[in-house]
Amino acid sequence: MATLRDKFGGCLLGATIGDVVGAAVEAESAAYIAKTFRSVDDILALETVEEFTGPPWRVGRYTDDTQMMLCVAEWLLEPEPHAPQRLLERFAETYEPSRRYGPGTEAILRLFPEQKKNWRELSTMQFPHGSLGNGSAMRVAPIGLAYRNDLKKAAATAIESSRPTHSHPLAYQAAVLQCLAVAIAAASTEFSCDAFLKPLRASLVYFDDLMQDTSRFTGALRALEEGLARGASCAEMSTILGTGVTAYEAVPMALYCFLRHPHSFADVIHHAVFIGGDTDTIACMAGAISGAFLGVASIPIAWRNAIREDAYSADAIERLADALFDRYASPEA
Ligand SMILES: [Mg+2]
Repeated sequence: MATLRDKFGGCLLGATIGDVVGAAVEAESAAYIAKTFRSVDDILALETVEEFTGPPWRVGRYTDDTQMMLCVAEWLLEPEPHAPQRLLERFAETYEPSRRYGPGTEAILRLFPEQKKNWRELSTMQFPHGSLGNGSAMRVAPIGLAYRNDLKKAAATAIESSRPTHSHPLAYQAAVLQCLAVAIAAASTEFSCDAFLKPLRASLVYFDDLMQDTSRFTGALRALEEGLARGASCAEMSTILGTGVTAYEAVPMALYCFLRHPHSFADVIHHAVFIGGDTDTIACMAGAISGAFLGVASIPIAWRNAIREDAYSADAIERLADALFDRYASPEA
């Protein structure tokens, strides 16, 4: 069984690898991916892929998912309290347009330097009720690691981390669900579906009490449980749960990829990518949960070596995970 330190490294690297693999086929259909590639290794063998605009995408780079997740990890290393405004500052400092940010987040990050005092209003500038995209769930994993033994604190911090860019109730719910899935994976030594699904269902009660509509996620969790009971493939479940950029499709789908293949990081990433759609984010979130459960040794070396980044190498990401471990877990080591 992986040590807790290995689980921290597995989570951040697992998320990054999911993002890197998924980025090479982002927004492609499952049919196209199956017709073109036999395996994740085939995808990673590509040098570049065409972009809609601008120069080709270099395979091995990570997208906004990883970039912002690393910001969340760095934010957690700063002194408490973890203020959302400070996180938004980190996002804006590290913003690179070529990393394929969603249009809503992009607009916020561009405006923030001029509008620091009004940061609260920025998240409803493009969407009057706030964005319900998966952009805050995709970056939340480090919070699950840090507060794996205090799910209330994990949920509260996940909501704060969502606030600057994704302030729709469904984005908050999704960020909490993904955060708790990572927390449970990091804290668990044995696998059981119930160990994940019970606390996730319970976390929605908090939102019910706020009079928020939680039916999207209670319905998705029910469908997911039924799918697991009959051994439905990830491909079949993708037609039920969806693979789009909304929080209520991507988060349950990522969770299903992990729960269906809890003992193989490679299988989780393969299925999360081959279902098509928002592949970088679904594989990033599924990879974060799987890596947090199985640890860094579960990640194929060739995939780790496929991360080709100037900003944060695989080794640098592992060092960041180590720093997070030293801050939030060293007494348990
Ligand atoms: Mg992305």
